[in-house]
Amino acid sequence: MGVIMFKELVEAKTINDQGYAVINVNKRPYQIANLLPGETAEVAFFDNGYGKVEKLITKSDARQKPKCPWFAVCGGCQLQHIAYETQLEMKERRLKALLAASGVDEKTVLPIIGMKDPYNYRNKSQMIISEKGKKIMAGLYEENTHNIVNVDYCPIQNDKANEIIKTARKLIQDQNIKPYDEKRNTGLIRYLFVRIAEATGQVLVAIVTAEEKFPGRNNFVKALRIFHPEITTIIQNVNSRQTSIVLGEFERVLYGIGHIEDELLGKKFLISARTFYQINHHQTQILYRKILELAKPKGTDTVLDIYSGIGTIGMCFAEHAKQVIAVEASKASVHNGILNAKQNKIRNIRFQMADALDYLHNYAEKANTADIVIVDPPREGLTKQVVNAIVAIKPSKLVYVSCNPETLAADIREFMLGGYTVKKALPIDMFPQTIHVETISLLSLK
Ligand code: SAH
Repeated sequence: MGVIMFKELVEAKTINDQGYAVINVNKRPYQIANLLPGETAEVAFFDNGYGKVEKLITKSDARQKPKCPWFAVCGGCQLQHIAYETQLEMKERRLKALLAASGVDEKTVLPIIGMKDPYNYRNKSQMIISEKGKKIMAGLYEENTHNIVNVDYCPIQNDKANEIIKTARKLIQDQNIKPYDEKRNTGLIRYLFVRIAEATGQVLVAIVTAEEKFPGRNNFVKALRIFHPEITTIIQNVNSRQTSIVLGEFERVLYGIGHIEDELLGKKFLISARTFYQINHHQTQILYRKILELAKPKGTDTVLDIYSGIGTIGMCFAEHAKQVIAVEASKASVHNGILNAKQNKIRNIRFQMADALDYLHNYAEKANTADIVIVDPPREGLTKQVVNAIVAIKPSKLVYVSCNPETLAADIREFMLGGYTVKKALPIDMFPQTIHVETISLLSLK
């Protein structure tokens, strides 16, 4: 963590987007975890620009006791020590500030939609498996390190997933299966992955291994199923790459059919381990309903759903539009999307497995038109070329679904240069206790 340079009694005034208080000492900003605006504390300052609270002197009203005993070390959540109402205010304020800096009128930002119960919402859990001495650990990385915190119970995850992971960890221990060691590149089990379909209760478990050979596989699966008969399917996913990406390309079904089915807005969706699926079922239904409300599709509209995943948004639009084209780069997602459309008897949606930019370029070049373009990119946002390709298609409405306000604000600036104005921006808290926030922005052509 760096070397302590000095200690000082300080008062925090602001908190940054990562949940750190920012204190300036001798014109240098320091980031301090677990310190809120209005609080005073004795802080040890490190040479690396961070600080650590040694003693909290006065407490903020917004401070709450984190539910998670590992909060102080685990890198998964950043805001558990802050009252949920204040978390929501922080997220809304941050979005407003970023959009305003891009020239968007703050009044377009609608009040953030939070959760009634902001815990146990994650339907996907990925725990890193490792070994400390002879003890098997299942957990997450410590903040900014590759040390692993053993997490017996994660309060933002679905409880069922917590239980399954706990059992699986014990089985790995009892059956003497070696966890993977990322430093030495030895051992077998890398991650436990659990995905739960909230609407149907179906459960998918993936055991991620460093190699295909998995001695004792049958015993492990048999025991896991005895303790958890609610598991619908178990797969082995092989990831031999030395990266921090959890899932590899190769999969083998060990039990069941290898995928599960969930429902969103009355439609059924097949989901696999490797397809993208929103992690907060309750808020996703609100998200999709609000996207429809804001975009107001008409029966004559052609809709492009770019970065479509398994086509969830596109399929919610299909019954209100003339046709939907879903564009997605992942083969596994497109494959599930096509099955999903069939299953829901939706005939006016077409899937294109393509890179977004290639597809949009080609679409614009052929002088094809679209009434509504929806984009839902990964955290990195869009590139200038993608923005320009969309501008060339000239949809009258553009819906930007974003999980990163920073890239959203930067991309919106580009769209504004291309003749679009922001009509509404609606933040939705899909990720309580963390710094992340989802936003739907509706833009229209001037
Ligand atoms: N709209 C979907 C999925 C959004 S996640 C939903 O709500 O579930 C973003 C998706 O973009 C992922 O499925 C990812 O595979 C896809 N993707 C990432 N880069 C891409 C690119 N360059 N071209 C097309 N799709 C891409």
